[in-house]
Amino acid sequence: MPGMLTTLTRTLALTLRLAFTMAVVLPLLAGTPAAAPTLAITPTSTSAAQPQRPPARWHGCTVTYRVTAHGHSQRHLKAAIRDVETATGLDFRRAATAATADLRIELSPQRAPRHLRRQGKGNYGLAQWRIADKSKITTAKITIFRDVYGTPAATQRNVYRHEVGHVLGLPHASARSRDVMNPRISSTRTTTTYHRLLQSRYRHCR
Ligand SMILES: [Zn+2]
Repeated sequence: MPGMLTTLTRTLALTLRLAFTMAVVLPLLAGTPAAAPTLAITPTSTSAAQPQRPPARWHGCTVTYRVTAHGHSQRHLKAAIRDVETATGLDFRRAATAATADLRIELSPQRAPRHLRRQGKGNYGLAQWRIADKSKITTAKITIFRDVYGTPAATQRNVYRHEVGHVLGLPHASARSRDVMNPRISSTRTTTTYHRLLQSRYRHCR
C-alpha cells in the first residue's frame, strides 16, 4: 500500500487534485465490490493537463476489453479502437466477461455526475486506470456519458480516441493544441500527434 500511495502522489500533482480525484472515483466505484483504489482519473471534456512521471504504458500489447453499451451503438467506439490498433500494433480483444477484461468500457445511459458538469469538466467521459510498478497500467475503465451520443460522429469518435489515449498512458495536450488529447473535445481535433505519441510508446508491439 505505501508503494501505491507513492505512485498516487507522483501521478497527481496537487493535493487539491487528489481530493477531487477521490471524490469522483469513490461514487463511481460504489457499485463495484472489492474494488482496489483507482490511481488516476481524467474527466473529459475540459480539465487541466495531468502530469505523468514516468510516462505510463499499458502492461502489454494486448488489451482485453468488454463493453457495456446499454443499447447505445458501439460503431464509433469500434472505429476509434481500430484506428489505435492500426496506428500502434496493439491488439484489442473482446473478453469473455467484464470481470476478466483489463479494460471495461461503459456507454452510460446517464449524464455526467452533476458536480463534474458544474465545473465544466467531464461532460463527455471519464478515464480511470490503475498503475503498478510506477508506470505500468494494469486495468482501466472508460465511462462515456449521455451528452456524447447526440454529437456529430467525428466528435463521438474523438471522445473515444481521447479516452482510449488516456488508458494507454497519454496525458492531456495543452489547451491550445488542436490534438485530440486537448482536454476539450470537438469534431475538428487532429490525430497526427496522437498517433505519433502512441507509436513511440508502443513501438515494441509492432
Ligand atoms: Zn482527458
